[in-house]
Amino acid sequence: MSDLVERFTAIVGPQGLVSDAAAVQALATDWRKRYAGAPLAVLKPATVEEVSAILRLATETRTAIVPQGGNTGLCGGATPDTSGQQVIVNLSRMRRVSNVDAIGNTISVEAGCTLAEVQRAAEEVDRLFPLSLASEGSCEIGGNLSTNAGGVHVLRYGTMRDLVLGLQVVLPSGEIWDGLRGLRKDNTGYDLKQLFIGAEGTLGIITAAVLKLFPKPKTKAIALAAFDTPQEALALLAHVQSTCGDRLTAFELMSAPCLALVRKHFAQIPPPFERSYSQYALIELSDCAQGDLDEMLQDALGDALDGGLIRDAVLADSLRQASDLWALRENISEAQAAEGKNIKHDISLPVASIADFIRDTDAELKRAYPHVRMVVFGHLGDGNLHYNVSAPEGVANGDFLREQPIINRIVHDAVHRFGGSISAEHGLGQYKREEILRYKSAVEMELMRTLKRSLDPLGIMNPGKVL
Ligand SMILES: Cc1cc2nc3c(=O)[nH]c(=O)nc-3n(C[C@H](O)[C@H](O)[C@H](O)COP(=O)(O)OP(=O)(O)OC[C@H]3O[C@@H](n4cnc5c(N)ncnc54)[C@H](O)[C@@H]3O)c2cc1C
Repeated sequence: MSDLVERFTAIVGPQGLVSDAAAVQALATDWRKRYAGAPLAVLKPATVEEVSAILRLATETRTAIVPQGGNTGLCGGATPDTSGQQVIVNLSRMRRVSNVDAIGNTISVEAGCTLAEVQRAAEEVDRLFPLSLASEGSCEIGGNLSTNAGGVHVLRYGTMRDLVLGLQVVLPSGEIWDGLRGLRKDNTGYDLKQLFIGAEGTLGIITAAVLKLFPKPKTKAIALAAFDTPQEALALLAHVQSTCGDRLTAFELMSAPCLALVRKHFAQIPPPFERSYSQYALIELSDCAQGDLDEMLQDALGDALDGGLIRDAVLADSLRQASDLWALRENISEAQAAEGKNIKHDISLPVASIADFIRDTDAELKRAYPHVRMVVFGHLGDGNLHYNVSAPEGVANGDFLREQPIINRIVHDAVHRFGGSISAEHGLGQYKREEILRYKSAVEMELMRTLKRSLDPLGIMNPGKVL
């Protein structure tokens, strides 16, 4: 063990140093297995004081720090480089829930709590913490904050940024900023917490947060609608919003290849229809008051069917069927991973222009690569698409991945033309760090660099990510 690793270990104790080689390798590799680093050490501090001491030592020794939560991020943000000089600081041991307040509707948690643990703690007091991702069993609140995670309920409740009242952050110097306030109103200057949300660990380490809770929905209705085009999806979205108002909690678009992939790799999930269609939307309504949401959704879909907006629909008539319909959506990422690598784009667009974007960009890609398979799904209500491009049948994934720079250029230039963003919810990490330079203005990039320099003058926080 080097002297430096010994000094870090003295802070966290032997139980706070990951020494098993396989465990180190797993934490030094990202979820998609696109990046594999070689860290100097992997530390798991147990308290904010330990995190502070780690960063003080890192500042003294100019050691680069890579903060890490559940390591489910999709842009390589939590993966160190291969220099053998960077230290991973994994927050998973800091998982205390200190206060669940059903009157103020707040919950105070440490950064290493998994999202699922926070959801459960809220449920115990008949409240809802609405962030919901397919990775919720593993991803952690610190990671959710640092990526400004989105997920399936943004339409109704917003992204992680909208769900936070206060933060505790350890700055690169080791100083602790205690901003753990649960206030709904606080106009006393700059909203500092927002700087750290979405910063992907480049400005400091988030150690705890006060989050917002909501009344827990008492009723839900879930349906899958089938139709021909994304244009119809937009018309259906507008129709459901008009008829069901803010009870609309999720509106998820899936193209036919997404469902085919899920059915191939998760054959236990029953097919929703006897035949396949080009496009599907998973729709969820929820309400805190008792009432017949099934009837409301059935009426909305019945009108859509009569008006020729959709071709078919199935309304879940049991909890089992509801979870099967959600499983079709939630397993798309896993099914893609099982099928092999494809070329992914997590993009956002003005909602009304999504159909035009898909039409134009699909056509451009198919001109360049005939028979390419479009695995397109996403949170349509938020304008967020996972616009993924898979190799034509019979073409090896490896050969196809070589086309990634050309395909990224086609897709991201189109996103820019339509006034969108090349990262909707996954962040930039190391994956899109270069790409963003093409689309953000020089003024915006320089403002970001100014913030980085003033908070992390030595550049020890997660170097090589975002900027
Ligand atoms: C199957 C699957 C489905 C997913 N679905 C969604 C989805 O619907 N919506 C969505 O937004 N994302 C989704 N994700 C991506 C991922 O789960 C989120 O980005 C999540 O918020 C990452 O949390 P994490 O704890 O795993 O963070 P990590 O992967 O460990 O880290 C992510 C970034 O945050 C930084 N970081 C982590 N913890 C801290 C901390 N305490 N302080 C400072 N910086 C920190 C890291 O350095 C890194 O840059 C999905 C991922 C998978 C595997």
